[in-house]
Amino acid sequence: MQLLLVEDDRPLARGLKKALMSQGFAVNHVETGKAALHVLATEPPDLVVLDIGLPDISGLELLKTLRRQGRTVPVILLTARDSVDDKVAGLDSGADDYLAKPFDMTELLARLRVIERRLSTAPSNRICIGGVSLDTAEQRLWVQGDEVELPRREYMLLKTLMENAGRVQTRAVLESRLYSWGEEIASNALEVHVHHLRKKLGNDFIRTIRGVGYKVAAQ
Ligand code: CA
Repeated sequence: MQLLLVEDDRPLARGLKKALMSQGFAVNHVETGKAALHVLATEPPDLVVLDIGLPDISGLELLKTLRRQGRTVPVILLTARDSVDDKVAGLDSGADDYLAKPFDMTELLARLRVIERRLSTAPSNRICIGGVSLDTAEQRLWVQGDEVELPRREYMLLKTLMENAGRVQTRAVLESRLYSWGEEIASNALEVHVHHLRKKLGNDFIRTIRGVGYKVAAQ
């Protein structure tokens, strides 16, 4: 899950980024509306956490521009002011949710989980392929009926592969779902996650497409 954080308050951004990354989100951070628009056009994230008070254009303007461009990416607005007007303006501008600063990190995480569940592209919350069943609402996995624990990154990797079953997912796409910009990624990090998943799922479930990436066969 790739998240774009648009926040010019550096200490706050640092704290948010750290907390979100510890929850397995790949977090890319920019400090201006202009930079955000560039990223949204070139490297569309799965969701956006957007501060209203930005140094160049306001978060509300940015959001309106986004929606005018037909971009439907979920946006959670952050504002320093807990005003009803801002909340209404934010929701009118196309925000999916709204948090007034100061907020509790657990609150933001809870809101993100709700959006994540809504985002799940599968028609039901359960994706079942060959004895492997993944519940994307509860983030739980069953293999041949037995529940198996998954660390967050393995879960995200498996979810991406299962949601796109039958289609090869390139290394670049998978890494962008799992890691943030500038995050140190060992060259074999993806292989290590796949290795752990194979121990839980059996060797044949995730297929290596040499030189390209990985795929899970469609049902
Ligand atoms: Ca600000």
